[in-house]
This record gives sequence, C-alpha cells and structure tokens, in this order.
Amino acid sequence: MTTSSRTPIVPASGMGFYVHVPFCKTKCPYCDFNTYQGIENLIDPFLPALTSEIECWGETLAHPAVKSVFFGGGTPSYLPPGYIEKILASIQESFQVAADAEITTEANPGDLDAAACASILSQGVNRLSIGVQSLDNNLLNLLGRRHQASEAIEAFQTARQAGFDNVNLDLMYGLPNQSMEQWQQTLDQLVGLAPEHISLYALTIEEGTPMHRWAEEGKIPEPDSDLAADMYQYARESLATAGYHHYEISNWSLPDRACDHNLVYWQNGPYLGVGPGAHSHLGDYRFWTVLSPRDYNTKASAWAESIVQPINELLESALKEVPTLGGWEHISVETACSETMFLGLRLLDGLDLSKASTLTGIDLAKKFQAPIQECIELGLLEQDGNCLKLTKPSYLIANQAFTRFLE
Ligand code: SF4
Repeated sequence: MTTSSRTPIVPASGMGFYVHVPFCKTKCPYCDFNTYQGIENLIDPFLPALTSEIECWGETLAHPAVKSVFFGGGTPSYLPPGYIEKILASIQESFQVAADAEITTEANPGDLDAAACASILSQGVNRLSIGVQSLDNNLLNLLGRRHQASEAIEAFQTARQAGFDNVNLDLMYGLPNQSMEQWQQTLDQLVGLAPEHISLYALTIEEGTPMHRWAEEGKIPEPDSDLAADMYQYARESLATAGYHHYEISNWSLPDRACDHNLVYWQNGPYLGVGPGAHSHLGDYRFWTVLSPRDYNTKASAWAESIVQPINELLESALKEVPTLGGWEHISVETACSETMFLGLRLLDGLDLSKASTLTGIDLAKKFQAPIQECIELGLLEQDGNCLKLTKPSYLIANQAFTRFLE
C-alpha cells in the first residue's frame, strides 16, 4: 500500500522536531510520562543511540526542513554538560534547521545554576521551559518536586541573567489541599517575574501513579473540579490584565511569543519525535518509538548499521524497516479531518475553516455542517465568517465540542 498524495511528507515550510529524554533524577508521584529514575547507566549509551536514530531519519526522509526543536521528557536539564549540544549538532547535520528556529529545552529549577544556563544557551537553545509547578513549598513537597519555591524564582532570574529572553513557566492548579489563596499568591508572584509564556495545567490523577493510590486510600482528597474551574477563571482574568494573550486552552503568551513548536501540534502539522516513546506525525501516518530506554538504545544503534534507502513517497514501507518503532498507524482522511478540527479549536483565536480545508483537501465547513451547527446552538462554538472558535464559557468543557467532531 502506498501513502495517498493528500499532503507531502514534510512540506517546504518544515516540520517540528521533538527529542524525548527519558531520564529524571526522581520520579514525581503524579507523573505517568515515559520517564524513569535510577537508569543513569543508560545515559551514556543514549547519546550514540539517539544520534544514530537522528541520522537514519535524516537519510530516510531526505534531510527535510525543521522549523522548531523541542527537548522534552523527562528532564533534559539532568543530562551532563555538552550533551544537548551534541544532539543539536546531530539534528543540524541531518536536517535543514531554519536559522530562526525556536529551540526549546525543558528544565527543572534545581538544575539551573549560572553555569548550566550559560552552557544551555551556548549550545544553541534559545527558549527555556521551566517546570515551576507551584510556589508553595508544601505543595511542591506533595508533588514530589526536588526544588523549593525560592529555587524556582532564582532559576528564572539566573536564566534571565544568562541571556534567555524567551522563557516559559509551567504551573499546576487544582492540587490536593490547594486553596484559592495559595493559587492567587503563586500566580501573582509568577506574573511578577514577567516570563514571555505561561502554561497552566490542572492536575489529573492518572491511574497507576502513586498519587492515584493515595487518593484511593483517602490519604489525599479527590480533586475539586469546581475549585479548579474558579482557579482557571482567576488566571484568565489576571493574565489578561497583565497583558498575556490566551492563545490556547492551557497557554498564555506575551505578543508574538506563542510556542512555535506546540503550534505545530495544534495545527495538526508534521513532526518527527526521536527517543523512547516519542510520537511522530508525517504524511498520512502516525507512529511511535519503543517505550523502553534499554530496548531503544540497542535498536537505534543497530539501525545505523542497516540504514534503509532514502524515500519520500513510500513512508509506510520505510516504517516497516525502522527497528526503533514501537508502532504505527495510517491516518485516514476521516481521522485527519477530525483531528484538524479539534486540535485547531484548542487555539482560542479560532480555526480558519478555509485554510484547514486546504490542508486536508476536504471542505470541512460542509463535512461538519451538522456538528458545527449543533455546537453553535449549544453555545460551545461561535462562528465569524471562516473563523470557528470556542466560546469563553466552553474553555473548560471544550471536550463536549471536540467529541462532536469524532467520526
Ligand atoms: S520531573 Fe517531570 S517528567 Fe520527571 S517525573 Fe517529574 S513530572 Fe515526570
């Protein structure tokens, strides 16, 4: 079977590039990401494995353009000095990374001293995303974070002094025992730092995590969704007053500082993910890498010895040859249309139905006429010409709109 010609695998405008770093110094009790503590012995062999995978993908995809790079995880800042630089050099050798590409790394506050900030900046990273999560020490302890509130503030100031002029700060709300007053203080302090970008995530207690067990055993209260909604509302108002643009359900930025890399996801654009468990979306396919860092290291290194031929059109046959893959699936036209709708609607300025129709090759206004009309009647969406967007009251219940676009 060949891929359809609905979209080129990587358009000339380029793709996003995600690097998954699976190492954390300690595992937080609420985290269900593919990250591990206590596997430091795999850090050294991870570098040649990762650069092998990067090189092999570069050859396979014929060295396409990259418009953003994102080091996530996991804790990229836990890697030894110079490590990120080597990964970045490998990406630059195998792909055409735009000169103005946004290059982000996630970082834990405890890792960001002056030397680390200077090193990360000199390695070519131009955007930092710091996992602050809270500025209340009791809540940070409950979250199992290895930093104190004062360290988070110092980390931000140190990053600024080192020369980072594009910084995101992550915060969590709806935490067990978190009061509205604590949330307001944390958010006000954070706004006082004037970062370029702020991401706010409500805690979801995932099955299989220690925090889920604590909630079942009654050791912590179940999340209070009404209080979380009030916290979100407070954030919306205070961030608007402080001049932040609310551009995605969970994301705010100063003018022109939206995250280019995450926009690729929300615009249902192409991206390649490398490293264990990383997901990719290229052409009409979605695929993901093996989860186990140990398997990944072995398979990525083996791939370099038996590289597949460069291809542009037969991605599926190439995928069958990629030893690091954990799985893949073909994205049908129906799925591509649904995803374009509900990912695009996460962007609060709205989805341009005309542009999105060009992207998918399908008239989306016509295809989704009934659910669009239903959502408008229910007050979930509003339409202005080609622009379809969530109404403000529906931000926290956006899934009620999104599910109507699933076939
Ligand atoms: S630092 Fe981040 S990725 Fe690592 S365990 Fe904690 S929440 Fe998960």
